[in-house]
Amino acid sequence: MVTNVQCQLILNEEDPVPDTPRADQFDGKRPIVFRNGTVVTVDTPGVLRDTDVLVTGDTITAVGQKLAVPEGTLEIDASGGILTPGFVDTHRHMWQTALRGYGGDWALSQYFVFYYLQHGEVFRPEDIYAGNLLSALESVDTGVTTTLDWSHALRTPEYADAAVKAFEEIPGRFVLGYGNYLGAPWEWTAAADFQAWVKRFTSSDMLSLEIAFDVPDSEDFPEKAAFQYAKDNGLRVTTHAGVWGATTDIGLGHMYDAGVMDETITYVHAASLSPDSYHKIAATGGTVSVSTESEQSAGQGYPSTWEIRKYGIPASLSMDTSVWWSADFFSAMRATLSSDRSRAHLEAHNKGETVAVNQLRAEDVLWMATQGGANALGMGDTIGSITPGKKADLLLIKNDQSPAMTPILNPTVHVVYQAGTADVHTVVVNGRVLKYEGQRIGLDIAPARDAVAASVEYVRSKLGEKEWEEGMHPPLEPNEEIENPYTYREDESAS
Ligand SMILES: [Zn+2]
Repeated sequence: MVTNVQCQLILNEEDPVPDTPRADQFDGKRPIVFRNGTVVTVDTPGVLRDTDVLVTGDTITAVGQKLAVPEGTLEIDASGGILTPGFVDTHRHMWQTALRGYGGDWALSQYFVFYYLQHGEVFRPEDIYAGNLLSALESVDTGVTTTLDWSHALRTPEYADAAVKAFEEIPGRFVLGYGNYLGAPWEWTAAADFQAWVKRFTSSDMLSLEIAFDVPDSEDFPEKAAFQYAKDNGLRVTTHAGVWGATTDIGLGHMYDAGVMDETITYVHAASLSPDSYHKIAATGGTVSVSTESEQSAGQGYPSTWEIRKYGIPASLSMDTSVWWSADFFSAMRATLSSDRSRAHLEAHNKGETVAVNQLRAEDVLWMATQGGANALGMGDTIGSITPGKKADLLLIKNDQSPAMTPILNPTVHVVYQAGTADVHTVVVNGRVLKYEGQRIGLDIAPARDAVAASVEYVRSKLGEKEWEEGMHPPLEPNEEIENPYTYREDESAS
């Protein structure tokens, strides 16, 4: 529940200005107040200048100017900075971070070949753990305070234990999307060892569970049993829908006809779908997780915000996988806003028209990156905005030495189009300060770096050097060359 109680007491003007706290003072026991920041609340007040945000325990307890705070409160100077809710990534295959950037030149077909036929043959639970550990650390380091791990390589519960172990070591907020792309979802969700694992799993504010599987085109609909299992166990479902050539209107039609579509389903990508499918998603209350950089590069279809907003379908944002691109949420917002506007211009030009007003705004993508993500995970009442009563997941974007951080005239636009991960000054998750003045607190990179190095070494040796190199460098096809009717010769141009 959210209570809109705001502390109205005024700080005594004579009170001494406290010293800047040291990182080791953030022990989780003392309240924290951000002073004099520009607060982008992502709820009704919107943008508040020279405003304080008080965190007590794991909760945002007040938002206002010159807040009186309990004795012993640690004060963070937020002046010159922008305070936003922490970002929420609703779809990331975190285990694939172990091979960061390996497939940057892939199209979707190379991804499938690699993960089904090559990597899929060799990887172990410790490879899942290594990727998850690095990805989880990256999330909290860059202000992604909640991440849904679309963990589709859990071939046995031991792999799931490895995924969870990483989340126990990194104090971010996570949702495990349990999946197994090497098996059929109606089979693995019916397996006794899987069901026993789910029974043992204890859901908390910091780590909860969803089921992750896809519905490829087929004549029948065996996945119905997996949806039923999820429903019977109160678990949300996330599914790649609207992926060109893989999951299309046919699968979505089966889902609708079987009555499994409702507000607990997240449709990842949802590109390449027909108007009829979009109507079905909208009518049943589902949300779409848009992975713009993924869709642009891998080819699931054009990033769908320009389409789904016409149907009133809410979107969240996601980065999909770091085997291709980064997990940088500033990049996600920027790419999404630009791709939406780009498509609007293209559609207009094709009709001989000119776009006079950009319909999608920076505040819309910041909403998708925060509250929209929280809603998609069923956590909209507890995280996603800077609202008293919500959990304290906060991001202070501040960098006094960066030319890109001054002047801040339009704070929301500034977050989306000007700021970057280098400007992440402070990160708070569940009231705990994990990063301050640009430095992580008590979260060394060495364990993740070492685990990933060992995983890379293992996978590389199992694949063999030739396969490893070929997987990284898909062969080029000849470029189409267009004959130029013009020639340029110096003597002609001079005459
Ligand atoms: Zn995906």
